[in-house]
Amino acid sequence: MLDWSDTETIAAPPPRAPLQLNPEPVHPTGLDAIDRSGGRVSIDEKRMINCRADVNQLLPMKYKWAWEKYLAGCNNHWMPTEVSMQADIALWKSKDGLTDDERRAIKRNLGFFAASESLVANNIVLAIYRHLTNPECRQYLLRQSFEEAVHTHTFQYIVESLGLDDGELFNMYREVPSITEKAAWALKHTQHLDDPDFKTGTTETDQAFLRDLVAFYVIFEGMWFYTGFAQILSLGRRNKMVGIAEQYQYILRDESIHLNFGIDVINQIKIENPHLWTKAFQEEVRDMIRTAAELEASYGRDTMPRGFLGLNAALCETYMHFIANRRCAQIGLAGVFDETDNPFPWMSEAMDLKKEKNFFETRVIEYQNGGALSWE
Ligand code: MN
Ligand code: FE
Repeated sequence: MLDWSDTETIAAPPPRAPLQLNPEPVHPTGLDAIDRSGGRVSIDEKRMINCRADVNQLLPMKYKWAWEKYLAGCNNHWMPTEVSMQADIALWKSKDGLTDDERRAIKRNLGFFAASESLVANNIVLAIYRHLTNPECRQYLLRQSFEEAVHTHTFQYIVESLGLDDGELFNMYREVPSITEKAAWALKHTQHLDDPDFKTGTTETDQAFLRDLVAFYVIFEGMWFYTGFAQILSLGRRNKMVGIAEQYQYILRDESIHLNFGIDVINQIKIENPHLWTKAFQEEVRDMIRTAAELEASYGRDTMPRGFLGLNAALCETYMHFIANRRCAQIGLAGVFDETDNPFPWMSEAMDLKKEKNFFETRVIEYQNGGALSWE
């Protein structure tokens, strides 16, 4: 028997001296030397960026929204290999089940996502994580990183199941110009954060960090992924490539949390650092969103030169305008395009898996119910 009688509570040391008004920013990675004489972390000291408080202490928690997203991500756990690919394999191998236009769109869509999931993961791990100085946000980033690995796994599994040429698919982001343009545009906004000497703490570098968040969370995951989802889910609604469509629905659910996390991070940084959100910077972000929508429109024309099954490049461009305006509103900016109705209203239903029981399996709900282990 363990004896707990002599366990004692360690008394808190006296509180740390109040912070100076304009302290030199420190950039805790969590791997710095331990501050042996420092006071305990208080909620007031926690900050999204340029935080002086110890980043190894999840509690006391300041940003409940980050923790809630971490829990939601865990509840949504799924693996691509649980989805049956039999119907997709049969359709893909059949001579007349899919038109050439559909095959072209499917392949380019897979090619775009296959490398994009890795780009997003590398951006989180190698650029964002180091500069986001808050443990509850980092907890979510660790969960998100694993989800990006699951998404990359999905494309490996699809390539293997359908017997696709992996060289063709995974190189598309370098070899198909409409995909390369998007990846290159996003990379431009993360590359200087990748510089080992890059540090936040000045208006210029803090804005560079915000630009990376906009490029990857709002635009890459929040805009470009959405037309990709619409393409595949539109096929799935017509009973084509239903396995991939089911996987995309799970990815879409993950991505909508990634997007909302990114929006919350941006808005919280704005609240804590209002001097960064200047009129000029706001216009710059609106320009980024406008340019990104144009890049997506070119990609749409390239992947669907003729359109099929009620889906075409013009509809995807309208959808992108609708999404772009929504993303602007979510970070407090005026829209960049004329107001338009959502041409794919079924996309919002596709985000709620529980509504789709007839078409999609309810495996993910089972995860939530069967989460507790029995040790009998
Ligand atoms: Mn992803
Ligand atoms: Fe993501």
